[in-house]
Formats: sequence, C-alpha cells, structure tokens
Amino acid sequence: MSKEVRVRYAPSPTGLQHIGGVRTALYNYFFARSQHGKFILRIEDTDRERYSDESLNDLYETLNFFNIKADEGPFNSGPFAPYVQSQRVEIYRKYAQELIDKGLAYYCFCTPERLEQVRKDQEAKKLSVQGYDRHCASLSLEEAKKRIKNGEKYTIRLRVPETSETSFDDVILGPITRKNSDISPDPIILKSDGYPTYHLANVIDDHLMQITHVMRAQEWIPSTPLHILLYKAFGWKPPLFCHLPMVMGNDGHKLSKRHGSTSLRDFREKGYLPEALMNYITLVGWAYDGQREIFSKEDLEKLFSLEKIHSAPAVFDYKKLDYFNGLYIRKKSDKELTSLLEPFFKKSGIDISTSQILTIVPLIKERLKTLSDAPSMVKFLFEDESYTDKEIFCAKKQSIDEAIFSLEFDLGIIEQQGVDLLDAEKIIYDKSVKDNIKANNLFMPLRVAITYSNVSPPLFESMKILTKEKSVLRIKKAIEFLKK
Ligand code: GLU
Ligand code: ZN
Repeated sequence: MSKEVRVRYAPSPTGLQHIGGVRTALYNYFFARSQHGKFILRIEDTDRERYSDESLNDLYETLNFFNIKADEGPFNSGPFAPYVQSQRVEIYRKYAQELIDKGLAYYCFCTPERLEQVRKDQEAKKLSVQGYDRHCASLSLEEAKKRIKNGEKYTIRLRVPETSETSFDDVILGPITRKNSDISPDPIILKSDGYPTYHLANVIDDHLMQITHVMRAQEWIPSTPLHILLYKAFGWKPPLFCHLPMVMGNDGHKLSKRHGSTSLRDFREKGYLPEALMNYITLVGWAYDGQREIFSKEDLEKLFSLEKIHSAPAVFDYKKLDYFNGLYIRKKSDKELTSLLEPFFKKSGIDISTSQILTIVPLIKERLKTLSDAPSMVKFLFEDESYTDKEIFCAKKQSIDEAIFSLEFDLGIIEQQGVDLLDAEKIIYDKSVKDNIKANNLFMPLRVAITYSNVSPPLFESMKILTKEKSVLRIKKAIEFLKK
C-alpha cells in the first residue's frame, strides 16, 4: 500500500483570503479527498508584526463558506482545528538549538544598525554578493553563550554551504536547480523576538505533520532551495513539492485589485454562491478532460488530480465567473433563492417581506448574475422615483414626441376597465404588427415609465406586481414629465 497522502493549507493571517490562496486551499482539500488522505490546516502566524485577528476570522469565514474542515489537528483551537504556529514556538526553538549543536547554525549578535551599515557599504562598493557578511559565523559557541547570558539580543542563522547548488523535482514543473549563492547568505531562522522565521517553522511543521505533498503558489519557488537545505541539515526527507500556476488577469499580468475584486470577502458580499466560486476557481489552473466544466464539490472530491494541474499561468476571468454564478443561481429552487436573497434585500433597505421576495424571484432569476443584483433590479416595485432624463424613454431613433404618443396609446389600453395587464400586452403588441411599427417603440417608453430604467425584468409581470393602479399613475406622471 502506498503512503497516505497528507497535505496542508498553511496561510499566514496577514491579509484577507484572496483568489490565489483559496485556490491553494481547494486544491489541497480536493487532493486529500480524492486520495482518501488527510487535509490539515496550519496557521503560520509567526510574523507577529503583520498578524491580524481580522485576517484569521476571514480565513474561518472563507472555509465556512465552502464548508471545508480539517481532518485532524489539536482540536482545541476552534472549529477548524488548525495547528497554530505561535503556540508551537518551543518546538521550533528546540530544533534551532539542534542545528546549533550540530554546527549547522550559529548565533548572530549583529544589531539592526550594523546590518544596515553593511548593506549601505555593499551598495556603495557595488558588490555582487549582497546580504549578511557572516560577521558572527566564526564566533565560538562559548563566546556566544557568554554574550547570551549577559543579556545580548541574538538571532540564529543557518550556515548555507557556499559552493554547491540545490535542486528539487517539482511534481508540476519538473526539475528546478538554484545556485546556493542565490540564497541570501546565512538567512535568519530564529528571530530576535524568539519566533522562528516562516522558513524554519514551515519546514519543521511539514516534517512533524508528515506532509507528503506541499502544494503552494509558485511565488514560493525561490524559498524552496532554502527549505531543502533545512531538510538536509535536519537529516529529514523533504516532501514532494507541487508549485501551482500563477493566477493572472486577462491582460497577462498577475491578478491584482487593478483587475477587480480579489478577496473572497468581496465575492461573498456581492453574492457569489460557494458552488460557483468553488467550481470556477478550481478550473483556474486545472482541467478534467478539456471539455467538462461543471463540477459539484462532491464531484471534485472524487475527480481532482495532480496530473491535470497546469504548469502555465492561468487566467482568472471575471465574466466566466459571472456565467458560472448565473448557472448555479438558476439551479436553485425559488424558495432556496428567496432565503439566499433575504440578507441582500435587508442590506439594501428595501421594505420587502419574504413572501414578496418569493413572488418576484421568478421575474429575476434568469437575469441575476450575483445575488446583490436583485435589490436594484426590483427596487422600482417598492419605491417611487422621479424621472430625470427624457432621452432614456426613447426607443432607437424615436423622438420624445413619439415616445409621448406611445405612452398615451399604451395608457389608453391599460386603463380600460376589464382589460387585464396580460391582455393589454397582447393588444399593444398586435397594434405594432398591424401598423408596422417596431414593438419596442411602444414598449420602451412604457418600460422606463414603470421601472425607471431601460433594462428591467419582464414588464407586464412587473406591472402586475406593482398593481394596475400604480402603473397607471406612473404612466401619467411620465407623460407629464415628458411634456414639460
Ligand atoms: N504561510 C505561507 C503562505 O502564507 C505558506 C506557504 C506554504 O504553503 O509553504 O502562503
Ligand atoms: Zn552577526
């Protein structure tokens, strides 16, 4: 039997969860499920300056939104059972000490001021190798211990062998080799505040948690050689590395706020469904067979595979996400959609009851791209507005006088006793056929009179909800406005 697959999502709570991070989480989660392995959550919070509670909450909200849970963990740290690195500092210190004892790491007492001076001198001399000058590399252990006893502040640095190079075989990208001289000379692994750096904690935890596959963004490739050196120093076998393709905007640049929303919170607030986001984000860098695109969470838990992750950068297409969201919205029953829409109506301030939402859902279901589109689409049913723009009433090539004429004609039909609104629609339509005029010439002015917009849900059904009386009033007001 082959080894159990064990993967982890290891975010640093220093910002909101974004598309790239979420994709990493999903790939790890789906890979674990498809291999009947374990998915672990690890909070890499050793950068205490950049840590924020808000980011940590946002992480949990995001996982909750997708209904993703960790398979194991200390189970005392909240519902998602993450390992939290700030609670494991003693472990990292112990291992850093082990490297000191082996002579593979050393204490450094350089002050920030000295390091700054070194940097400036190197810059002035235009030296090719920059970075730490290994000032403390040859201090004896005795001397170092004395200085620590005297209360001097210190960091611990890894001795990087100067001559050779470091390679690893990336599962997705193939062999990758970097010269050790590219790794900054003797990087700090334990900081002066006693916390480990990302590199040290990451490697120790991946080892202790028996991670088999490290799936993370390609941005981490430059750090991987250093991680390999750390595994070597400890005498541990490194996991497999799978660096995920970059996420780009449609202009070929790395996805950023310039392209649109990137944080999951934004997408949640706009009313994207978890099913749609999960499905679409998974397709950014992975494909099943080049054809099928619609996958439920359960499908992906079975079908996801490492082999089909792309190595080339992947484009995040906002329009395509809208398309997916529309599809998933239309898969909901009217009742389900009603309860999904309720919070968005509440937020909009429109005074609308649950049963009223249920009535209008069939009108808007086909056109919704996001849930937050709904209130503005149907606001006209609940609130009167005033007209401000005459041009907007006109169909293509129609003059304002013609628009007035159309409205008066429509009003004549609609006002008639005993004519119900759907009959009226047919009568108006038949008139356009008989007189050989475009139907839109009769309907566009009416649409704007009723809905204050030239795009709207089905017009006569909307009027039915609005009531005939209110519709008539709006048409009269519109005529008045246009005649002014
Ligand atoms: N804490 C790192 C991050 O925020 C994790 C990188 C990794 O997965 O090794 O992306
Ligand atoms: Zn030093």
